[in-house]
Amino acid sequence: MDAIILLGGPGAGKGTLAETLKTKTDFIHISTGDMFRAAMKAGTPVGLEAKAFIDRGELVPDEVVIRMIEERIKQDSQSARYMFDGFPRTIEQAKGLNELFASMDAAILHVFNLSVPSEVLIPRLTGRRTCRSCGAVYHIMYRPPKEEGVCDLDGGELYQRDDDCEKTILNRLEVYNRQTSPLIDFYKQSDLLRDVDASGDVRAIAGSVLNVIQS
Ligand code: ADP
Ligand code: AMP
Repeated sequence: MDAIILLGGPGAGKGTLAETLKTKTDFIHISTGDMFRAAMKAGTPVGLEAKAFIDRGELVPDEVVIRMIEERIKQDSQSARYMFDGFPRTIEQAKGLNELFASMDAAILHVFNLSVPSEVLIPRLTGRRTCRSCGAVYHIMYRPPKEEGVCDLDGGELYQRDDDCEKTILNRLEVYNRQTSPLIDFYKQSDLLRDVDASGDVRAIAGSVLNVIQS
């Protein structure tokens, strides 16, 4: 079992990159944000607990996140390979992942730090639209669907996430700077950090990440 981690602020392009990498590698995409949104939609206890934090742009408590990841990856075989998107998001989560992986004889291969100037993040988030049925991600200007409001892949309705409103976005950026950005140094220390300029074209970004994965 092994994994790569996609690290970056909200709107850095983690989910979009994961969609491309999924078609070109055998890494299984695990987005904790997607898992929480599915849990909220289904009204599970985890979803109900997470909702208040997500609505405010705060992080869901570490123990809830780590338990959810542990339950998820224990379903797979020892040969599974993961692409974590939006996890870990705190030093505590990173330590929890290290412990979990040590107990399963699993390894983190690379941590890709998607860096984008902060002024680019807000317009990416306010213009993001997501398919209600398959979760595909669009942008009203940078990645518009063929028909406005309709998913190219399955015709599902595109919606704007509640937490992509400007007030919550500002808090999420603050939370990223305070709680998540320390992970850059954390993974630098273990020589796993790979910096990626994520401000350009999605295909070019995916190409540079694939070069590292396949080298
Ligand atoms: P994250 O998962 O890091 O929060 P997303 O992948 O959802 O970010 O991307 C946020 C928004 O920015 C989406 O609307 C997406 O279409 C758009 N986007 C992602 N990557 C790029 C890029 N390289 N150039 C322009 N827009 C992008
Ligand atoms: P995302 O889809 O990655 O933008 O995540 C949406 C929201 O889900 C975040 O703002 C957090 O409230 C919550 N969330 C997702 N992943 C995590 C995580 N690893 N730790 C804590 N909260 C998370």
